[in-house]
Amino acid sequence: MKDKSAENKSTEPVVSNFIRSIINEDNRTGKWQGRVETRFPPEPNGYLHIGHAKSICLNFGIAQEYQGVCHLRFDDTNPEKEAQEYVDAICDNVKWLGFDWGTHLHYSSDYFDQLYAFAEYLISQGKAYIDSQSADAIREQRGTLKSPGQNSPYRDRPVDESLDLFRRMKAGEFHDGAHVLRARIDMASPNINMRDPVIYRIRHVHHQRTGDQWCIYPMYDYTHCISDALEKITHSLCTLEFEDHRPLYDWVLDQLQDKVPCHPQQIEFARLNLTYTVMSKRKLIELVESKLVDGWDDPRLSTLAGVRRRGYTPRSIRLFAERIGVSKADSWIDMGILEDCLREDLNEAAPRRIAVLKPLKLIIDNYPEDQEEDCFAPNHPQQPDWGKRSVPFSKTLYIEQEDFMEEPVKGFFRLAPGAEVRLRYAYLVKCVGIDKNSQGEIEALHCTYDPDTKSGTAGASSRKVKGNIHWLSARHAQSAEVRLYDRLFGDPYPDSGGKDYKQSLNPDSKTVIRAFVEPALCEAEAEQHFQFERNGYFVADRIDSSPGKPVFNRAVTLRDSWGKITGKAK
Ligand code: ATP
Ligand code: MG
Repeated sequence: MKDKSAENKSTEPVVSNFIRSIINEDNRTGKWQGRVETRFPPEPNGYLHIGHAKSICLNFGIAQEYQGVCHLRFDDTNPEKEAQEYVDAICDNVKWLGFDWGTHLHYSSDYFDQLYAFAEYLISQGKAYIDSQSADAIREQRGTLKSPGQNSPYRDRPVDESLDLFRRMKAGEFHDGAHVLRARIDMASPNINMRDPVIYRIRHVHHQRTGDQWCIYPMYDYTHCISDALEKITHSLCTLEFEDHRPLYDWVLDQLQDKVPCHPQQIEFARLNLTYTVMSKRKLIELVESKLVDGWDDPRLSTLAGVRRRGYTPRSIRLFAERIGVSKADSWIDMGILEDCLREDLNEAAPRRIAVLKPLKLIIDNYPEDQEEDCFAPNHPQQPDWGKRSVPFSKTLYIEQEDFMEEPVKGFFRLAPGAEVRLRYAYLVKCVGIDKNSQGEIEALHCTYDPDTKSGTAGASSRKVKGNIHWLSARHAQSAEVRLYDRLFGDPYPDSGGKDYKQSLNPDSKTVIRAFVEPALCEAEAEQHFQFERNGYFVADRIDSSPGKPVFNRAVTLRDSWGKITGKAK
């Protein structure tokens, strides 16, 4: 059956936010002649996580909504840390989320020639100079939030001297760190970003795209605004930590106003903070390298490769991004909201199947040894047109261990000695005996069935019982590996307050079992989603599962069991 969750439909009503208000106002005044052009600008130095997904959904989503375009631009100005592997993975993630950059795939390195020419221009205008001090000296002169910085002794160096040095830096005459190019703004500015920031530095390193062509590389703040302008971005959406960089963004573009096609507007929004997880690149790397998880796509990680493998659907993540919205205030989002979005998507989209995770044998004493029959189970209770499939029934079945209690507690309505329950889609059975081994452990249950009570027949409603449990025929059940995942951390804020986040790892975040599944599940295609009745939503693992040899990951339980245990997030 087709996996419907991948369809590009949104069920969420569009709620306005301050970014939409800005764009609506720009469209009203004709500031951009109705044009909306955004970009997602990752640095290819690591794998994307669910926080990036917020930014991707926002940038691509806004562009879609206003019939604009969104660019994917790799901010590749730090060649030491960057790699093609990350570029490929990021492209893959964005596509998977359901977005398309069309012809707008760009790299900051595409602009190295222009960035260099603009830098020469700034020098010629007295707006930039070569500083030949050490990085330490420059740092010491920068001042603090309370005290102004000091001018560099090279600040008033003649233009020609700076130009000559800059050209020689480019030609490779100097070693790393010998000189830098600095914007000439204001060492007394209350904003430290404006105190003559470095805009070019010498790095004799190979670049994954430009090879050995360059040994000087532009800094992020200088590169980013110019790249936006050259691509004619209208609204440059970024996270709040860049708010203090906006004056520099605007300063650079003001100096170049006759040279670049437009001056995009930088707009900041609050980054996503999600409970029960960590998102910093450093911590993700540490978890992977110290083998506390099984790689970058470990289903417990917040990386997009991880959540995909866990069984999250693109639609559930888009729904999440829309639901949490965007604002200017930093806040924490409860993991339960993300999980609910997945439940909502899969409740609609995932076909129902039966699996018995912790089997207990049940023998129907009055059912003939060789007999088998078909029972019919709907593929989706609210989608009659998805049809029914046959689930074979026979004398010996498996049920879940937890559906039986020898001494039932109050309110337990499932199977117990003398109690009667419905075997879903089949018969009423009554427990008449227990087989135990020499240690006193239960090995099998004995039941009798009432042949007049089969589901779908007139006799089905003759008697009402409270318990309704799932089962599989032992003869027909297939064995499959099932990985039961839970949250990676037991603490909602694993890295807050200087704690060592590794102390909060949840020891039960991964349990691998062999379970029984109904025959129809054997042919599951990788990444197909299912609801295993009463057990949760599962996905056939995209790496290890194949038709005939299925491996399932539990993406999420049917209900939020954490909300009750730990209370709500701050
Ligand atoms: P760093 O800059 O430390 O390497 P980063 O996570 O900011 O890490 P980038 O590749 O620069 O990585 O991020 C690309 C885009 O994703 C940026 O525009 C950034 O603002 C946005 N982004 C990163 N983390 C989040 C988050 N938690 N919530 C929303 N947006 C985010
Ligand atoms: Mg960044």
